[in-house]
Amino acid sequence: MSPIQFRISLVILLVMAVSGTSFGVAVYNFLQVKSIHEDIRTSYLVRNKVDSIYIRKDRKNITNELQAIRESLEPEERSLALSDIIQSYTSNSWSLLKRRIKHFEKVEAKYIEFLLPKAEYLEKNILYYFLISSITFILGMFFLREYVAKAVFEPLLRVTTKMMDFLNGKYSYKFEVPPSNELGDLQSTFNSMAQRVLHNMEELEHLDRAKSEFLNIASHELRTPMTSIKGSLGLLTSGALGDLDPEVQNMIGIAESETDRLIRLINEILDLAKIEARKMPMKLSWNRLDEVIQESVNGLNGLCKSSGVSISCANLPDYEVNVDRDRIQQVITNLLSNAIKYSPKGKAVEVTVEQDGPGPLFIGIRDYGKGIHPDEQAQIFEKFRQATNSDNPLVKGTGLGLAIAKAIVEEHLGHLGVQSDIGEGSTFYFTLPNWRELSNNESQESQKEAA
Ligand code: ADP
Repeated sequence: MSPIQFRISLVILLVMAVSGTSFGVAVYNFLQVKSIHEDIRTSYLVRNKVDSIYIRKDRKNITNELQAIRESLEPEERSLALSDIIQSYTSNSWSLLKRRIKHFEKVEAKYIEFLLPKAEYLEKNILYYFLISSITFILGMFFLREYVAKAVFEPLLRVTTKMMDFLNGKYSYKFEVPPSNELGDLQSTFNSMAQRVLHNMEELEHLDRAKSEFLNIASHELRTPMTSIKGSLGLLTSGALGDLDPEVQNMIGIAESETDRLIRLINEILDLAKIEARKMPMKLSWNRLDEVIQESVNGLNGLCKSSGVSISCANLPDYEVNVDRDRIQQVITNLLSNAIKYSPKGKAVEVTVEQDGPGPLFIGIRDYGKGIHPDEQAQIFEKFRQATNSDNPLVKGTGLGLAIAKAIVEEHLGHLGVQSDIGEGSTFYFTLPNWRELSNNESQESQKEAA
């Protein structure tokens, strides 16, 4: 048996022994009192029966009844006195019978006198033992409760607190000297488990750092030659080195756009590595949201023209947001360019800004493309994930844009999500919690400037 279990069992056994024995004695005394009262009652009944000798006519019955009673009378003095009565009754010696009845009554009175104080004494005992039994039971339970609280609940609470601390990243998990009982075992197991988790975490961090460093170095090393390849291809397509055969010009154009794609991929990998390593601090400042959106829209004029999709962002409300302007523009540009890429020709992409009470601002970008299957809606925010809707040959992506946008929005304590129905299109939205309304003066001034 384990130590705590043994001690609890010992306390329960002690309590049961003392309280149970006292209770048993009280019950025994009670039964004795009951039998004394029974005796007293029988004595009165016998005396009544003896008195009825004079009035009853059924002599034979009376004699049988008295003989039956005599058998059970104790002590012997009583049964002798009753025998004498029966004897004088059957021999019709009436004067002797009268004297013997008197004698019998005296014997019975003496017997009752002997019984009454005994009953009184036993009654007191019942009370006494019952009290001892109740008090030991209550005290025993109280000590048991205290012991369980001290030996079980308090140490358990300490283990729970340490576990919660561990969960919250406070690594004060070690217990000084775990006691040698079940809870001590639990504490030691938790110590070893926590040490193993920490060890694994360190190893994972080390691997993650190594992976990021490798990606960083590889991407840096790739970016320089890629940029110079792009420059050279640019020189060729611009005709600076002489006119080219149209077929060659076409091939070099393809090579140039593929180089652009590779450079974009490299830049996105580098961006993501920086955000994940928390090496991209956000330079927060208050900016007019409509301006931030408008600049992103202007940057996409070329894509709009080539794909025949327009962007509508009229009547944006006057809000200021505390953001890293370049990074939030990167998010908006990514969402807008996706919306354009997945919209059919001739459709518009809509930008809206909504706000409900004191909560965050909702910036939504809606397109009327094919929409995204519900099973894929959560996955597209993961790195290198693309949905299976890209049957448009113009759509060539890296699967990194949304992962980067999500990381940037979360750095601003916001949330990036999508609401999409197949055949109806998609609305990508992100929230910005840090916003304020533009003061009237400021908005009037900017309106004048615009005029
Ligand atoms: P990329 O566009 O470079 O592939 P993203 O991370 O920006 O990478 O997008 C991931 C995937 O999400 C895309 O490949 C596409 O399948 C899906 N997607 C994103 N935006 C939309 C949209 N507006 N409509 C439909 N699908 C979209």
